[in-house]
Amino acid sequence: MSDLEQKKLFSIQPVPGKGNGVIATSAIAKGTRIHAESPIITLPTFDEARNAPALNELVLKQLRSLTRDQQRHFFSLRNIHGMSLPIPLGIVETNALAFGPGGEGGVFLTASQFNHDCLPSARSNWNVKLGMMAIHALCDIEAGQEITITYINLETRAERQRILQDGFHFTCVCKICTLPQEMIDELDTIILEIKEIDKFLKENNMPLEIGLRLAYRQRYLIESSCLDMAHAPDTYKFAAKMAAVYKDYARAKVFSERQLAIDMDEYGPDHPEALTQQDMDGYLGSLLEKHYGPLIPYHFRLNDLENWLWMQHLPEEHEGETGEVASEGTADEISHDCSSHNEMGFDVEAVG
Ligand SMILES: [Zn+2]
Repeated sequence: MSDLEQKKLFSIQPVPGKGNGVIATSAIAKGTRIHAESPIITLPTFDEARNAPALNELVLKQLRSLTRDQQRHFFSLRNIHGMSLPIPLGIVETNALAFGPGGEGGVFLTASQFNHDCLPSARSNWNVKLGMMAIHALCDIEAGQEITITYINLETRAERQRILQDGFHFTCVCKICTLPQEMIDELDTIILEIKEIDKFLKENNMPLEIGLRLAYRQRYLIESSCLDMAHAPDTYKFAAKMAAVYKDYARAKVFSERQLAIDMDEYGPDHPEALTQQDMDGYLGSLLEKHYGPLIPYHFRLNDLENWLWMQHLPEEHEGETGEVASEGTADEISHDCSSHNEMGFDVEAVG
């Protein structure tokens, strides 16, 4: 952690309307580990701990074991609860971050100061191997920009606002929460479709071709709207598993490679999620090499490779087509500069 602090990638500064926030002090490349930190206060289970009568005592006990500096730092953290809660509890309720789904929660002196954005520039992940919350850049961040994370999963605007209001007592005024109503409606429709596809894929068995067509549609919606920044489903991971179940190891390997690249950027190479994906990728690679030969048609042009991968069209059906993503509608308008945008060279006609 001290190495990271020495690099001075960010500083804590007042941000209008948000109290303090984390501001990049130098350019940060996508995939960089911006910060890693152990909690100073640990909560048994993040949700259940809230308002539990014993929580204040638990917090006080842990506070007593901290150094003077840490205590001072803790009491300088934001408290949105005023006098409605004992001050230590108010600070915990304002700043606690969940460790993982259904897991513990805790207060971090620095990580707790990253503000929320529904399309954040960074992602926080609990690294159980390190015992630290690690924060990685989801896109290239310029010096002077606020570094944000998301506190929630992918939801429609109304649902996001409800969760943030109930859990964190603020109204989000991020880029996608303040779009004109018509565009909010369009984006909500996209978000609902992404979630519907996710549910359908997970709850139903289907031929690989149907599954991959749906997965293709989902990935298209996510990438063309930059919603991969917003805790969207891991399409590649699911597609890799689906292809492996059907013993289509060539496709499984390509999907796995793409997921691994994402995991390395978002979790870091020492995170169990990335390590597991790396093992899976190696296993698929050795399976292909030993038993099936070079079945991945890397010699295809990009669009043909995409069409092969997602079982869309045969290459010869696509001659003369460019496969550009359509540049109309919400997806394009809310898109921003992150380099992941439009990597796939989607053919929008094939998914429409
Ligand atoms: Zn928002």
